[in-house]
Amino acid sequence: MPYRRTRGIVTDSPSSDPGVEADVIMTAAALGLATSHIKGGVPLRFDMDPRDKDKDWNSFEATVKRLHTAAAGYLGRTSRLPTGTIEAGFAPLHRQGAVIVGVYHMAGQEPPPSVAELVLSPKGEALYEEIRNERLPQYVGRGAYTGFVDNRNTVGDTDPVGPLSTVRFLAPDLDVSHESPMAPQHPRWLPPDQSPRWNPRLRRNTRDSYVPWGLIAGDKATKEPSAGIPNPTNAENEADQVTGLMRSQGMVFEGEPTPSDIVGYTHGMIQAIYKAYHLGPNTTPYEITVGTQTTKLASCLTCSLFMVALGYPPTSIHLGRGESWMPLFEPYSSHARSEQDERAVIRDLNNSWQAKCDEWLALGLEVLDQAATTDDHRPAIAAVRKYLDANTRDKSVPSVLILDAVTIHESETTRIDRTLLSS
Ligand SMILES: [Zn+2]
Repeated sequence: MPYRRTRGIVTDSPSSDPGVEADVIMTAAALGLATSHIKGGVPLRFDMDPRDKDKDWNSFEATVKRLHTAAAGYLGRTSRLPTGTIEAGFAPLHRQGAVIVGVYHMAGQEPPPSVAELVLSPKGEALYEEIRNERLPQYVGRGAYTGFVDNRNTVGDTDPVGPLSTVRFLAPDLDVSHESPMAPQHPRWLPPDQSPRWNPRLRRNTRDSYVPWGLIAGDKATKEPSAGIPNPTNAENEADQVTGLMRSQGMVFEGEPTPSDIVGYTHGMIQAIYKAYHLGPNTTPYEITVGTQTTKLASCLTCSLFMVALGYPPTSIHLGRGESWMPLFEPYSSHARSEQDERAVIRDLNNSWQAKCDEWLALGLEVLDQAATTDDHRPAIAAVRKYLDANTRDKSVPSVLILDAVTIHESETTRIDRTLLSS
């Protein structure tokens, strides 16, 4: 059996609610990341889109305050006085060709004085211009960021890498994962056939055709195509319409999913980090905004966890959506240099990411345990803890729970608001 087919992500009873469990998992992840920062005296800022300021600032600031109150309360009780704060702020303004930088702290590099003053190598500059002006094939639709690695190495491989657009993959199947040491050992979660989670995925005008798990907009299958966006494939429902649109806007789909598959999306920055790590310390991974439909110049929480775990903290973190986020489990690139080397890099980086997910989720749950949480989320906090306690020998489990949680598509802000009481 390649998947966990339980009613909840970590429980299997008639009252299991995977949505509530996903809320707890992702709130714990955000709290773990934030608490570990301020514990060490390093402030952490979560950013919103400055263009939403008038509409959303007050509620966003309140969400971040919930995180701060919970984390600071926990650190106060455990007699470690917080020396950093968790703050709300604004992401840098989005514009065509703006970048998110991952800076390799371990190599002693500092963030550039301003991300607006991009200083690239000559070859990097040329490639950046090609990407920014969309002269190379890449995804340019909703949420389009393109990964890019500038390379200042003077010996060996000195070429920059890009464009690295978000790619849709099938989650690795455990039946074959023994041949693929990078795949997580713990099975992924796929809702059972009778789960109500499948209801919005039943394609309009069909009796038994379901949109596979993980697909972006997959829960819009019962809806008519939206009049507000193009429908290049003449799809009969909004879920298939969005998939067709993403393909027409240049997203690469690796493999065609069936309802017994899970799909995930690997963002450009993540691909760029594997490449940067592979090429050595004189490289910088970037994510460049392309197209006109991307609104936030900030990294999603799931990317941020990966970036911080690997020592490339992002310029800015948002608390929006990381729908069906996934790292790489196999070498992927049209710039493959050495597949064997790439496998080793993926294995090492994924191991580091798994170890940090383990640390952050455990810490976040401890914080949650003592925090003012909503009554309807308390049983799920205990259930996630119990699940982790029962699986301590498998270090992939916390990271797998995060991957599972983000297959339930929701903004992290909403999940945090549903889990933590306002302070
Ligand atoms: Zn991301």
